[in-house]
Amino acid sequence: MSTERITHLIGGTPWTGVSERTSKVYNPATGEVTGALDLASAATVDEAVKVAHEASKAWGRTSLTKRAQVLFAFRELLNERKGDIAALITAEHGKVLSDALGEVTRGLEVVEFACGIPHLLKGGFSENVSTNVDVYSIRQSLGAVAVISPFNFPAMVPLWFVPIAVACGNSVVIKPSEKDPSAVNAVAALWKEAGLPDGVMNVVHGDKEAVDRLLEHPDIKAVSFVGSTPIARYVYETGTANGKRVQALGGAKNHMVVLPDADLDLAADAAVNAGFGSAGERCMAISALIAVEPVADDLIAKIKERMATLKTGDGTRGCDMGPLVTGEHRDKVVGYVEAGVEAGAELAVDGRNGPFAGGEDGFWLAPTLFDKVTPQMSIYTDEIFGPVLSVVRVPSYDAALDLVNSNPYGNGTAIFTNDGGAARRYQTEVEVGMVGVNVPIPVPMAYYSFGGWKNSLFGDTHAHGTEGVHFFTRGKVITSRWLDPSHGGLNLGFPTHD
Ligand code: NAD
Repeated sequence: MSTERITHLIGGTPWTGVSERTSKVYNPATGEVTGALDLASAATVDEAVKVAHEASKAWGRTSLTKRAQVLFAFRELLNERKGDIAALITAEHGKVLSDALGEVTRGLEVVEFACGIPHLLKGGFSENVSTNVDVYSIRQSLGAVAVISPFNFPAMVPLWFVPIAVACGNSVVIKPSEKDPSAVNAVAALWKEAGLPDGVMNVVHGDKEAVDRLLEHPDIKAVSFVGSTPIARYVYETGTANGKRVQALGGAKNHMVVLPDADLDLAADAAVNAGFGSAGERCMAISALIAVEPVADDLIAKIKERMATLKTGDGTRGCDMGPLVTGEHRDKVVGYVEAGVEAGAELAVDGRNGPFAGGEDGFWLAPTLFDKVTPQMSIYTDEIFGPVLSVVRVPSYDAALDLVNSNPYGNGTAIFTNDGGAARRYQTEVEVGMVGVNVPIPVPMAYYSFGGWKNSLFGDTHAHGTEGVHFFTRGKVITSRWLDPSHGGLNLGFPTHD
């Protein structure tokens, strides 16, 4: 198996320098090393920011019509090549092809939203606020902005930000996850093909060194980050200390509450899909199933029936679930399974021994189910980010709500019930940013905004939708008077309106 060099894209061309540091990229279904990724030094980041900063000047002044034309062309190309991008995702992340295609499709929806940028940037106008004085508002681009993305959605998360940043007239330096970097390079090539001027979209690969330089560089005006909570908090604190606007989306522990009157077949399907899809490596995965008694025994029986039909294996072979992203991460998740057993949770389905339809050295763990989990156990308190679903049994709706609201994360949650009043009460009372009613993974459409509460988001602006447009622009209000024969002479008082 050959190892491909994967490098930065600066100013529309692959970087030709020699990297002092590289890291390995794996195919998680075989365990083989498939890529050698250049890790940017601070000096390489500076190169990219310089190019982006220069390019932002002309791009920010390019007409809305021309910017929208690039967006439409990019939309067509991405739609045409989404299969190629999905294949790259499966090869480096491990998720099954249909799931990879789903993530590109959700990203495509943000591009379609951004195609409407001329409408989204319309300002307000008030005529004659004072005699012959008009006031109007506009929103302008920021300059060069940074996007730092996680491994679990190598195409979709960058597409939450880049199309809107670019449509708003900014240039971008993106630093993808070092675990699955190729999808971003392929998407960057499509931007170029769509007619985006060189330098508006740049990719630097790297780790903490590259991130730290982006956070302190004076020509980076805003940072959109998605990743784990400790790094999100660090990025928010460091970026804002350096005077930047920052939106930093963090980790999650998403609870699905099942009330006794719920349709248990629907709930069991949802728990399995949302618990084990993408091997649980989704920030909106369900990892805690809160069964309001007397529902648990019946619900668990239905979940076990469904789990018995799931096939774990190579994402290119029509399986339901792929491997975990790295061997290290698989070992960490297995460590949680061991800790759960030791703490006294009931291991209802043990996924440690397969079977697995993939390479012997793949990073495998099959769907795993724990029953009788208590809130003190690490399988409940920690974000495991793997195919491990924990059932917590509670006696009442109020106990379920207490559990969800006392959790430090607040990304997504779902309630399963046939009682509209109970669902409505939950949506009002729950302290979580995205809520599903009989919908397990309530990821908002592109024209709404995506983001959690509490430790799942630092900053006040969620991703995409109109909040995204606000994040990537700054407002200006103009008060204007054109001279007219009646203009008024000297008056040093504070301006009021007449
Ligand atoms: P991560 O925090 O390890 O990495 C995210 C990014 O930060 C990567 O680009 C990485 O290179 C960089 N990074 C890592 N360590 C760093 C450090 N010490 N200093 C500076 N930068 C650093 O996250 P991950 O493992 O790639 O992704 C999984 C996490 O992302 C999970 O916690 C998941 O819940 C979260 N996530 C959240 C959302 C959301 O919308 N809230 C969406 C997707 C993923």
